[in-house]
Parts: sequence; structure tokens; C-alpha cells
Amino acid sequence: MTWLSGLLPDPMEPRSGVRNVPEVTGPGCIFCAIADGEAEASAVHTDERVVAFMDIRPVVRGHLLVVPRRHAIGLADLDPDDGAHMFRVAQRMAAAIRRSDLHCEGINLFLADGQAAGQTIFHVHLHVLPRHPGDGFRVQLDPRFPSRSELDATARRVRETLA
Ligand SMILES: [Zn+2]
Repeated sequence: MTWLSGLLPDPMEPRSGVRNVPEVTGPGCIFCAIADGEAEASAVHTDERVVAFMDIRPVVRGHLLVVPRRHAIGLADLDPDDGAHMFRVAQRMAAAIRRSDLHCEGINLFLADGQAAGQTIFHVHLHVLPRHPGDGFRVQLDPRFPSRSELDATARRVRETLA
């Protein structure tokens, strides 16, 4: 959809700053516009904290997004209560999809935090993806097999920065 193209990051454009992402907020943010009722969306659920609506570029049928009303770019600036509610609503969406007549034999939840993680709309959102064999959705995993000492060392590096 062309109306989203202005929000997509340009991989060739050099960026600076800590977050390394475009700071699109307020009237320039499509998800804020949807939450405010100023842009069209196929809503499934709305409440005081989040809106849930169909992704306009679904990778599977039934692919929807749960979006906090309050603008946050990613996990770092997301209000934890908004995040908890976003997950709670995603659980309800998953249950509703499973009860519906959409083809659904499993569910993936997916959140992209940052450009390197595949985030393209810089208003945090949780994808709810109904899954079935042969649906074409694929996450390519190439697991490593580190030693226990490497796992312990990695755990220590994260533990040291726990706030
Ligand atoms: Zn926004």
C-alpha cells in the first residue's frame, strides 16, 4: 500500500543517533492514526489501551496486529502495563481465531523490535499469526550447540545489565 511507503525505512539512507530508527510520531504515525480513528482499519477489538485490527499485508489469512494506543517505538519505551495488556489481548485474539472458521491449527506471536529485527512500522505492535501446515509462513532457524560454559558466560553478560 502506497500510503505506508513513507513510513518504511530506506536501507540506503545513513542514520545517526542511538535508536537508529525514524522518530515518526503523532499525525505521521499510521498506527496512531488508526488508534485515533483517523485512518481506516478492519478492527477486531478496541479498548482503552489497545486496538487490534487486520494487517493490510497479511502473510497468512487472519494475520492481525495488537497495537497500544499510546505511541511507543519499541520495547524500550513501551509502558510495561501497555505491554502486558497487548499480550493479554493477543491471547484473546488467538483464542478467537482458533474458535473461528479460519484455517488455524496453531498460532505464532511475533514482535519486531528494531530495524535489524525486521520492524518496518515504528510504533510497537504484536503480530498474531494463525498457522497451518503448508501456509507458506516460515521462520528459518539455524540453531547452534554452545557448551554449558558458553551458555553460562552469556547468561552472566545479560545478568550484569539487568536493571
Ligand atoms: Zn504511533
